[in-house]
Amino acid sequence: MAKKATVGKVRASLRTIEAGGLRAELVRTRRRSVSLQLLPDLGLLLRAPVNASDEYLRDFLQRREDWVRKHRARLEALRAEDPGPIWSAGGEVPFLGRKLLLDVKDGSRRSARLDTEGIAVVVPDPADSRAVRAAVERLYAREAAKRFPPLLDACLERAAPHRLPRPELRLRAMRSRWGSCDPVKKIVTLNTRLLRFRPEIIEYVIMHELSHLRHRGHDARFYAFLERLCPEWKSMRRQLAGVFLD
Ligand SMILES: [Zn+2]
Repeated sequence: MAKKATVGKVRASLRTIEAGGLRAELVRTRRRSVSLQLLPDLGLLLRAPVNASDEYLRDFLQRREDWVRKHRARLEALRAEDPGPIWSAGGEVPFLGRKLLLDVKDGSRRSARLDTEGIAVVVPDPADSRAVRAAVERLYAREAAKRFPPLLDACLERAAPHRLPRPELRLRAMRSRWGSCDPVKKIVTLNTRLLRFRPEIIEYVIMHELSHLRHRGHDARFYAFLERLCPEWKSMRRQLAGVFLD
């Protein structure tokens, strides 16, 4: 189910665990707590400490059965409303909250660039939607490198009263998450695919990750802090919820 999950170096150690009618990919890492993530393909990823027993993890999974069913149903409903971008000529793809028209031409040099009408793509075979998408994703990555650092600066400035340390910013195209934060190394990683959304939503993700510099887990204190940095976080989160990552 979760074959496409991006879990970095620990990918090779994935195996499956089942309980209560649910099946999750299990990855053990040097972490202290167990977490369950619903992936974009609606599969489940269970992250657990190295020494957690299988019995404990099955129990953990079983107790979250209602949560999983509820959120899967919600994601399916959202996706039924918006099936996602069409990666071919004449299709519209999201860019900073707007929809841009794709103009696809054939040529030996693969490229995608912004023009006044939309996005101009060149690929060897215009009917190859994967190649079109790959070219646009590279454009997203280039634009993210240009546009995300100033957004981080703006967020840090607004959060200045809380005296957060300035994290190192890394950018990656990711399949299972919009961002992550390593509070120990002070690294915030943002998904270049966030380039699809309007800047306010990108800033919400940044504020979420910055909040992890203060509170590691997603507990009540974390959300109280996030609320101070980004009072609109609930509506922003809803807008990200139904979006395909892959
Ligand atoms: Zn988080």
